[in-house]
Amino acid sequence: MDDVVAIDELISAATIEARVRELAGDIAAHYADRCPLLIGVLNGAVVFMADLARQMPIELDFQFMAVSSYGAATESSGVVQILKDLDSPIEGREVLVVEDIIDSGLTIRYLMRLLEQRRPADIRIVTLLRKDRPEVRDLHVDWIGFEIPDAFVVGYGLDLAGRFRNLPFVGVAVLSHEGR
Ligand code: 5GP
Repeated sequence: MDDVVAIDELISAATIEARVRELAGDIAAHYADRCPLLIGVLNGAVVFMADLARQMPIELDFQFMAVSSYGAATESSGVVQILKDLDSPIEGREVLVVEDIIDSGLTIRYLMRLLEQRRPADIRIVTLLRKDRPEVRDLHVDWIGFEIPDAFVVGYGLDLAGRFRNLPFVGVAVLSHEGR
């Protein structure tokens, strides 16, 4: 595998913080005095969800699901696997799925189909990042942090083969074969 020789910053920590606060305000205003169930998609959404939830001055609960579509590769294998399911039923709940990034849309489409079968009262999506790809232009996403170009990004929860999740910013990993 190529070595990572640099991480080019795409979205700074301060810009992320400001946008997360804004999203939290919009989402809290939508749910107001109801108690949504946030479902975080492990592992990537952990950092975003923790920051987002703490900026929302409303009652809420959260749970996590783990899915895998990539393994250690940087291209989708096309297969979504549930590695960890929810701990309790969501029937009748207002659900907010919290994603780190929507790339091909495969993961979120699969998750939405699965969760809708469990009869929540309502189900919405917030994603920190969405890549500008033709496959996802028709996919309805309720709240989007940032639209980004179609490059492989790391940081703020996102990894490359288990590295870089704890970077406070989002950046593009430059690999050795790209000549730096
Ligand atoms: P999708 O199913 O939309 O193609 O991809 C969704 C999942 O793939 C994300 O939740 C994330 O785990 C992973 N993924 C997609 N694009 C990227 C990327 O640019 N960087 C990283 N680190 N993970 C990505």
